[in-house]
Amino acid sequence: MNTANRTLPLAARADSLVGSVIDSSTSLLAAQTHDVVRFAMGSPAAEAIPTEALAAIGVEAIGAGRADAFDYAATEGDPALREALLAMLEGTSDATTSDRLTITAGGMQGLDLACKIFIDPGDLVVVESPTYTNGSATALSYQAELLEAPVDTEGLIVSRMAEMVEATGRTPKAIYTVPTFQNPSGTTMTLQRRHELLELARSWGSMIIDDDPYGLLRFSGTAVPTLHELADGDPLVFSVRTFSKMVAPGLRVGWVDTAPSLQQLIINAKQAMDTCTNLPAQRLLAGFLTSGGLEEHLQTQRAQYRRRKQAMQEALQEHFGDSARWTDPDGGFFLWVTFDESVDTEALFEIALAEGVAYIPGNAFSPSKRFPNALRLCFASTNPDRTREGVARLAAAVRRLQDRS
Ligand code: PMP
Repeated sequence: MNTANRTLPLAARADSLVGSVIDSSTSLLAAQTHDVVRFAMGSPAAEAIPTEALAAIGVEAIGAGRADAFDYAATEGDPALREALLAMLEGTSDATTSDRLTITAGGMQGLDLACKIFIDPGDLVVVESPTYTNGSATALSYQAELLEAPVDTEGLIVSRMAEMVEATGRTPKAIYTVPTFQNPSGTTMTLQRRHELLELARSWGSMIIDDDPYGLLRFSGTAVPTLHELADGDPLVFSVRTFSKMVAPGLRVGWVDTAPSLQQLIINAKQAMDTCTNLPAQRLLAGFLTSGGLEEHLQTQRAQYRRRKQAMQEALQEHFGDSARWTDPDGGFFLWVTFDESVDTEALFEIALAEGVAYIPGNAFSPSKRFPNALRLCFASTNPDRTREGVARLAAAVRRLQDRS
């Protein structure tokens, strides 16, 4: 019997599993044999990952020789990491208590847990426009109906969101925001808008999924309190954090900070996903945190990222001048570049790749593809010389695209 063409009984939700243009670019780029300047993935530079420090503490930290070194572990997280994390957060805008913390497999699992617990098929979920692709994809995977509310230089335009929600005649189940150094736009929501957002969420009874992986990577300007701090214990704020940008994405360790009343539910949901987060990775991080390595590492990285952002902006100015606009973030990893309407950044991608530069097209950040002439550049992964080379290649690609039409 030929079974190759058998129709499989897929779940209705399979249609909502849209994947990630960003994540797929990792394999696409790995397959390239020519030199490509990589502005696509939002990962720290290879040299920014404290590989030697982690290796030095590694074997001992993961507890080689201890009977449980490679065993299953507590679902809420390894006690050593939980303790080190609480100490790390003390005095920051994310200060918290043990009964609010659950260690996760990166920020993505935090987003998945939030949606798994709160989103039913057909629920209305507000996302920013542009938004973080994998965040909107997670809500879609639980069959949410998305409402895209615009972002400007002060972050999510909360008043506009309120009008848009009102026009639907419904209330959102959740509002998904990346309030600080947003992915992809780099903008930070002002204090005033954070207050307005909290007020609206309270009036609607909506959850705020507060996804803030870059907050501790501020390199200029004045810090704005996190939604976690402003909520002052209000259970409507579900905060998602990760070590991916601060230390290393391959460790796949993050945490969620939620109302204590949710913790058992989160544990139950996580047990049905992965039982527990990778124990050796948690212990490695705990060792890194208790060695005092993180603060020093962050200080070095912030200075690097400021220089890298400036180098990218200068190169954009040199090559594009007034023919494009870009954002000016005070932290994080990304610039959002907008060209005039004739530049289709999806069509540009292939030409750019051939020229030796990769980025993420703007439409990847909008479920309804509202940004055909924009793109996201990660300035964090490349040193200034390499960045200049990449921007020059991008400019050559834009010229080729324009010559073609
Ligand atoms: N949220 C945002 C806004 C991100 O930028 C990222 C990483 N690109 C994540 C969540 C996912 O983090 P992690 O890699 O830790 O799963």
